[in-house]
Amino acid sequence: MNVFERMNFTLAEAEILEEALARFLSASVGVPSQIEPRVLLGRISSAIADALLGCDDCRANVEKIGEYYFLENPIWERASGGCDILCIGCFEKRLGRALTKPDFIPAHQVEEHRQSDRWKRRIGLVAT
Ligand SMILES: [Zn+2]
Repeated sequence: MNVFERMNFTLAEAEILEEALARFLSASVGVPSQIEPRVLLGRISSAIADALLGCDDCRANVEKIGEYYFLENPIWERASGGCDILCIGCFEKRLGRALTKPDFIPAHQVEEHRQSDRWKRRIGLVAT
């Protein structure tokens, strides 16, 4: 699934958008002069980041909310339903229980990414 499909564009629309974006980025043509290119680029990159890192159920950007976590494979397979990204709340709704420390892959419990309070509670970093 590419970025534009994740943003709910059809394949045909995605191809048009990709072509338009490539043209815009290489030549900056077709941009109304009243729009600051920097502003437009910022909006495009933010939309792409949200699409790439959006929870498949609620669309929250998991990086922004501090829930860029990884689970042990058996538990992820049990409830993810083929999704790529789910925030902790949406995953737990599908699973029918709260996640606990052993569910998470330990290597990803280190602070490479900001951790939400919810994530910290699940792995015992803060009191529940
Ligand atoms: Zn969610």
